Amino acid sequence: MFRETDVLVVGGGPAGLLAAIRAARMGARVILAEKNNVLGRKLRITGKGRCNITNNKELQPFIRQYGEKGKFLYSAFSRLFHQDIRRLLEEAGVETKEERGGRVFPMSDRAADVADALERLAAEAGVEIIRGCKVQGLILEPAGGGGMQRVAGVSVYDPWDNSEIRAKAVVIATGGMSYPLTGSTGDGYAWAGEAGHRITELSPALVPLESAESWVGALSGLSLRNVKASLWAGPGAAVDEPRSGVATRAAAETNGDSGAEPPGGEAADAHGSQRKLAEFQGEMLFAHFGLTGPVILSLSRFYQRSGETYAVRIDLKPALSPEILDKRLQRDFQRYQRKRLANAMVDLLPRALIPAVIKQAGLDGEQAIAELTRAQRWDISRALKALSVPITGTRPLEEAIITVGGVDLSEVDPRTMASKKAEGLYIAGELLDVDGYTGGYNLQAAFSTGWTAGESAAANVLGIEVERKKRNEGGGKNG
Ligand SMILES: Cc1cc2nc3c(=O)[nH]c(=O)nc-3n(C[C@H](O)[C@H](O)[C@H](O)COP(=O)(O)OP(=O)(O)OC[C@H]3O[C@@H](n4cnc5c(N)ncnc54)[C@H](O)[C@@H]3O)c2cc1C
Repeated sequence: MFRETDVLVVGGGPAGLLAAIRAARMGARVILAEKNNVLGRKLRITGKGRCNITNNKELQPFIRQYGEKGKFLYSAFSRLFHQDIRRLLEEAGVETKEERGGRVFPMSDRAADVADALERLAAEAGVEIIRGCKVQGLILEPAGGGGMQRVAGVSVYDPWDNSEIRAKAVVIATGGMSYPLTGSTGDGYAWAGEAGHRITELSPALVPLESAESWVGALSGLSLRNVKASLWAGPGAAVDEPRSGVATRAAAETNGDSGAEPPGGEAADAHGSQRKLAEFQGEMLFAHFGLTGPVILSLSRFYQRSGETYAVRIDLKPALSPEILDKRLQRDFQRYQRKRLANAMVDLLPRALIPAVIKQAGLDGEQAIAELTRAQRWDISRALKALSVPITGTRPLEEAIITVGGVDLSEVDPRTMASKKAEGLYIAGELLDVDGYTGGYNLQAAFSTGWTAGESAAANVLGIEVERKKRNEGGGKNG
């Protein structure tokens, strides 16, 4: 098989689909090569099958969701932002809706509708889609002086022959390394490396955390809503060392109820040599291996395999200050004054969680409420505000929502997604070293960098000035 085209897009995920749609709409001949027989396999399982497409946040808070590297995305977001991808999908018959925290989903709650719509838009734009096409590597040729290379196409796996697809520009959008069964096996990292790019260290993010504590595994399946969980590191972080009620109170008040905005960086708070790395409020889940759910996935971004001791502390009552919580305990214990401690907390906590809280308070569930001292009540309050779960690691990269690390951003032009190492090469999506929190940010980054890469690849090939075609055609039919 020998093919030839203007723009070749490798990878039929969200980044590749947007790149192909945009390049074809600009008038370029486009081939989209996807190794699976189905496009957007990962996209189809996003958001637990509902697809959290994007987020309705304003630009600045949106950019902050990617940490320091977020500024790389300014230009791509100026080409295609959340309103543009929503408009594009609506154009293809997929209405969208906004939920808590600005998260945007398809009205149908079906991720497959999003993937099908993008596939339809690509076909309508004239993209030639080749399914079951496993690209093996880039065809690189010397270009001018200075050791610069230029990409001339790709080689394709073919059991009968050596095949090639020659192209004037190649967009690689092969994704990260998580959930490899979806097709994202990290192939593009090696190709970018061969083209001269530095690949930063790859590690899992938005990944469940493991704990060796048997009580944690025993709670598997228990889901907690509206808790505040924080990740701590440093000597003793995993030890549930007694802290005085006063110290706990002060810390709890300092931390307040500041919402789920990510902290500015490390050491948002400290207790001696222990450092609080991050804190998020929302939903979490106990699993047989440890902890998972949205707030845990967000915390995992701050976990490093550094040999340090880590713990997650769960504030089970984030809306109550220690004083109000103590009043609440007094009320409950008054009501259940003839009961044992384990039976006096049923209004406050899911039953399964009560033994763990009592144990961390250093008490016995059999203790009679009538004999409970004020200090012991404070110990319960402390355990409720900071239930400690020692963390031993993360689940493997295969189970991560995203891969942290990738093609070094300093070697990619943020305005065009063009490689600074090889002429005619464009890089988009999760392959790049930029990642965000949960909430629709990773898909938006893939959509926007894909769109930008497709636009600049086509403009380059066709000799069109991109700036003129910038904003007004962001999501339009002819855009
Ligand atoms: C379980 C799960 C849930 C998620 N939920 C959300 C969510 O709700 N919201 C959100 O914002 N993000 C979510 N994400 C993250 C999001 O899915 C990714 O960041 C996004 O899919 C990255 O897009 P991409 O196009 O760069 O790569 P991918 O989606 O990984 O697509 C890459 C494509 O390239 C193809 N490919 C790879 N190698 C080759 C090759 N050699 N030849 C040809 N084709 C190849 C692959 O088959 C694949 O189709 C979720 C991720 C997971 C795993």
